[in-house]
Amino acid sequence: FAKQNGRNNYAFYFDDLKKDSARLLLLESELRKALQNKDFTMHYQPKVSIHTEQIIGVEALVRWTSDRLGIVSPGEFIPVAEDSGLIIPLSEIIIEKVCQDINSWRNKGIDQLLVSVNIAGLHFQQEDFIERISNILKKYNCSPEVFEMELTERTLMKDSSEIVNKLVRLKNMGFKISIDDFGTGYSSLSYLNRFPLNYLKIDGSFIQQMTSLQEKQAVVDCIIMMAHRLHIKVVAEGVESKEQVELLKSMDCDFIQGYYFSKPLPSEELVYFLELWEIHKQERNV
Ligand code: C2E
Ligand code: MG
Ligand code: MG
Ligand code: MG
Repeated sequence: FAKQNGRNNYAFYFDDLKKDSARLLLLESELRKALQNKDFTMHYQPKVSIHTEQIIGVEALVRWTSDRLGIVSPGEFIPVAEDSGLIIPLSEIIIEKVCQDINSWRNKGIDQLLVSVNIAGLHFQQEDFIERISNILKKYNCSPEVFEMELTERTLMKDSSEIVNKLVRLKNMGFKISIDDFGTGYSSLSYLNRFPLNYLKIDGSFIQQMTSLQEKQAVVDCIIMMAHRLHIKVVAEGVESKEQVELLKSMDCDFIQGYYFSKPLPSEELVYFLELWEIHKQERNV
């Protein structure tokens, strides 16, 4: 009986593997098609200053609806794009779309937003990464000053002088640099001061567990203190409740991003959101 059971398990496992690899193959071929038509859109999630309640920036997040698969989350297709190398053309389409949106906001008088873009490891590692990004920005007449690059611990962990040099060059050009998903990697805290970072983003998993788990709260508190010592500003990701906002305020966190304020929004909806936000802010201050 045990043997039979084992064989069944094996059969199930094998079926799963086949299903998984079939999905991966389909994803990759659908991605290739989508790249030809630039079939992606960008959504933008506001980042709010915890002290002034001002929206200081937005994070650009890619969205994709495939003809055959429907909506696919970036959490699923970005890794496929990284493994297949498709992330390079995809990243350039993303930067281009962000530049177009920045220009449309500028035409509506919105020109103070810092726009952060997630940078994939493989893209960052390209030798001509800086040149190619600069060329796109020039083409759309966008200044590096309005851009923030979000890099993950995993990308930065391969601690080579090459990475540091690239970051210093980017910073000197006017780009802001953040470390994303902080706390989820295996890196040590001490390596932070080797990089010219402007912002540190605490991963949403910490924020969500912080109100029920003392240890997580202690970790968040320590990360904020340490970052401030190194003159790095802190963004809390995935903030969903008033309770979390108050706790983060008491810990002197700088910026907050999460569903509590807004989901990621299409470009035109963001414009409305910003207008409403200003009106409400004025009302709150009267
Ligand atoms: P990330 O950069 O850490 O982005 C934050 C993710 O958390 C986003 O998921 C966002 O929609 C989600 N989020 C925001 N607020 C909340 C909240 O209050 N609660 C919860 N539960 N989630 C919240 P999304 O858009 O699905 O993106 C997932 C990941 O995919 C991103 O994580 C990033 O690593 C990657 N990604 C997304 N867009 C891009 C892109 O344009 N380029 C690259 N290279 N990667 C991207
Ligand atoms: Mg990010
Ligand atoms: Mg993150
Ligand atoms: Mg993440």
